[in-house]
Amino acid sequence: MRQIGLVGTVILVLSLIVSFANYVGMRGFEWSPTSTGFAYSLVLSLGFIISLGAGVFGALKEMDEFLIAAGAGIIALDLLNKLFANVLYSWGYLDTMLLLAGVMMILDSFYVRRAKVARLEASKLETKPEELLAHLDKLVSEADTSQSDGALTLEKEIFDIKQQLWAESKKSPEMGRKLRIRLYHSRAVQEIVKRFIGSDMKVIEPALEVSESPTYPALSDLNRYPQKTIQFTLNELVESGILRKKLYEKLVSCPTCHHSSKVFTRHKCPKCESYDVNINRLMQHLECGAVYDYKEYHTPTGIICPKCSKAVDESTQLKPVGVAFKCGSCGGISSDPNKAFFCRNCAIEFQLKNCELQDTYSYSLNDEVKSEATETLTVLNIAGAIEKLGFTVNAPGILKGKTGITHEFTLTCNKKEKIVAIELATAEEQLEIGRVLASYAKLSDITQAKSLFIAIPKLEQQARDFLNANRIQFIESANMYEIADKTLQFLKQFD
Ligand SMILES: [Zn+2]
Ligand SMILES: [Zn+2]
Ligand SMILES: [Zn+2]
Repeated sequence: MRQIGLVGTVILVLSLIVSFANYVGMRGFEWSPTSTGFAYSLVLSLGFIISLGAGVFGALKEMDEFLIAAGAGIIALDLLNKLFANVLYSWGYLDTMLLLAGVMMILDSFYVRRAKVARLEASKLETKPEELLAHLDKLVSEADTSQSDGALTLEKEIFDIKQQLWAESKKSPEMGRKLRIRLYHSRAVQEIVKRFIGSDMKVIEPALEVSESPTYPALSDLNRYPQKTIQFTLNELVESGILRKKLYEKLVSCPTCHHSSKVFTRHKCPKCESYDVNINRLMQHLECGAVYDYKEYHTPTGIICPKCSKAVDESTQLKPVGVAFKCGSCGGISSDPNKAFFCRNCAIEFQLKNCELQDTYSYSLNDEVKSEATETLTVLNIAGAIEKLGFTVNAPGILKGKTGITHEFTLTCNKKEKIVAIELATAEEQLEIGRVLASYAKLSDITQAKSLFIAIPKLEQQARDFLNANRIQFIESANMYEIADKTLQFLKQFD
């Protein structure tokens, strides 16, 4: 409800009442539609009442169109009245009040319009995550097919939607999981996360020596992806909670070209500003008390004190007493040279306060999603390998058991009449019998399919015995490549 708009209508009502009271007080009320003065006053009154209605409606419902119409109506009627100087509304202060009422409504309409736009923006943000996901899919497929024109704006839009989705996933763990599973399907993501799971790699560290933006030696073989894609994927993996990032270094970058690789630190003489500053290590000869630069003790004939000319044993008779910085240009000595940075790219010198600090990070796998990542990537890896054998793969796969119940398996695959159901389970250290029993209940109900159980990293003895006793074939391994190999061997039995 808009209070300023309502105040406008209240002023209008009061003005109407006062003018009506005046009218009646002056000439008494008489219904005489034939009198032009009366008819004119009647039309004006009706106009004001209609404006009043529109103003009240606009203020209550917060509709700017009605507030504008009401305000403009009042002002127009008032001006009309002024021009024809009709008896009913001819008092100066009433005119002022009417104008005020009209202006208030119009001013309020601007506020209402702004609020409306803001609400619209907010409602855009509140789009359901599922709709956002669907929209994202559409944009991604558009981006895949589109040529370079418009690709940038698409990229930006995709990025914005992903940001919104990740923000959403902070509130809903289910959404977070859904987004991570989608990510695992991306080739670049698999390549990166596999390094933590399929090998002993613990951290991806940047290399800073030569490049403008950090590169990652551990990912250097992913050279079919542009560096930008790798960085974007790493960022996305961090947003999703699959990887954790840690500040590795803050790089001083040039304020003009924004690159850090060509920026050199300079130590400058406080007197003449030259950067030809040398470091002198001052040593005291303990026997005579003389203090000279370390280099001055070194002569072609040995280590000799320049003051007393005696031979000096460096390790016992020379004591470091401090450092001094000597300017190669003016010869001045200082204890604390000024610092500056120089960009070789732009040939400009700048101070620390003017530089840009560029953060670089190292990345490691988030322990909390380790088993999820292992499981998902292992399944994707197996699925890829099995497809090459000519099987059709479903992950997850649904099969109907002899009891009539449908069961969901980690993966099912088929080739002609052959059907295989694979159950895969992960545990921190070893899989317990309970988890195996849950899969066994499903596997034993499907007689039409061959079964395989995959345990990551291994089974407890009791579970192993149980599977052996019930003739369910199984694979135990922590290595995704070994698991894929053994799964292929298992399938080749039926080829
Ligand atoms: Zn520069
Ligand atoms: Zn000496
Ligand atoms: Zn100097």
